[in-house]
Amino acid sequence: MRQDRSLESIRTSAATKRRARRTPWPALAAAALLLSACGGGATGSPPADSPAAGSPTAGGGASPTSGIAYPEGPITMIVPFAAGGPTDTVTRLVAKPMETILGQTIVVQNVAGAGGTLAAGQVAEAPADGYTVLMHHIGMSTAPSLYASLPYDPLVDFKTIGLVTEVPMTIIGRPDFEPTTLEELVAYVKANADTVTYANAGIGAASHLCGLLFMSAIDTKVTEVPYDGTGPAMEDLAGSQVDFMCDQTTNTTEQIKSGGVKAYAITSPERNDALPDVPTTTEGGLPDVQVRVWHGLYVPADTPDEIVQALSAALQAALTDQNVIDKFADLGTVPVSADLATPEGHTAKLQSEIELWKAVIEAAGVTPQ
Ligand code: ASP
Repeated sequence: MRQDRSLESIRTSAATKRRARRTPWPALAAAALLLSACGGGATGSPPADSPAAGSPTAGGGASPTSGIAYPEGPITMIVPFAAGGPTDTVTRLVAKPMETILGQTIVVQNVAGAGGTLAAGQVAEAPADGYTVLMHHIGMSTAPSLYASLPYDPLVDFKTIGLVTEVPMTIIGRPDFEPTTLEELVAYVKANADTVTYANAGIGAASHLCGLLFMSAIDTKVTEVPYDGTGPAMEDLAGSQVDFMCDQTTNTTEQIKSGGVKAYAITSPERNDALPDVPTTTEGGLPDVQVRVWHGLYVPADTPDEIVQALSAALQAALTDQNVIDKFADLGTVPVSADLATPEGHTAKLQSEIELWKAVIEAAGVTPQ
């Protein structure tokens, strides 16, 4: 992966690639046949004792009749935010059983920047061989409405593998922040808008979206402090360097329970079993501040369907892993149902969320930057 590339250069080359993809191109068909004949294109073989070894169908790998031996080497799973945040946590939890199922190492790599769009732009351009996989969240559907010139099209430049989980956010404050309830927070922010600071993970991140909804609901703007992810933002919040933020329960549950941060509300219509004492935004008087952050896996658009199916089968199996289920429950979430951990379920969600957030973002008066 080329992490030093600017968004501009990714934009230009992704646009070229998109134009090429939309043109029926005999060379692509030839390349697919070659891939089939060569058995994938990556080097290395699965460990002898791995489920994939000697049994191409074990663990849901590409079928023996497909002609694609996959996976034959390590897979890189890209996280578009910094380590230690909720997307990173969910990725590492799910990657573990997927490694066993696929019989290959999964290397989790954090490529943070530009609210998650930097990593998505890189994966859109990566070789379409199944060895570079993106874990992204709701930001995949909000970015088209927030960026004037996005270097990729979520519906054109990727194939979906399946959804992973869907999780509410919490509105939280530094431990010594004066307000103690959501009503008090609203009054405080309105009265101190010129000094209050709000942390987020960049434009298009879930924390940015939640902040937009909050500020639009109370008709007040505060200073936003962007981070590479809400992992580092949480450290600064707990250290009282910033005043408040929103983040998924997968990153906030432990901090809230230990008193490391103050919790004001949860952004779902119902309370969460992991945080039963935290009221909903509706209870606190802000019913329009509703965000559920869904995560899903993607590969570049030209990836062969057999590889997509192998990854999807591995994801579905990983989501039944008891450790994943238990850890998710501790963090206030559950794996999605099996029908949503599929390319079809994921694509339907992506399409509907792009439409939903386009309308919400327009209604909030936000113009793409
Ligand atoms: N929770 C973050 C967001 O605001 C991203 C992360 O670090 O996972 O989108």
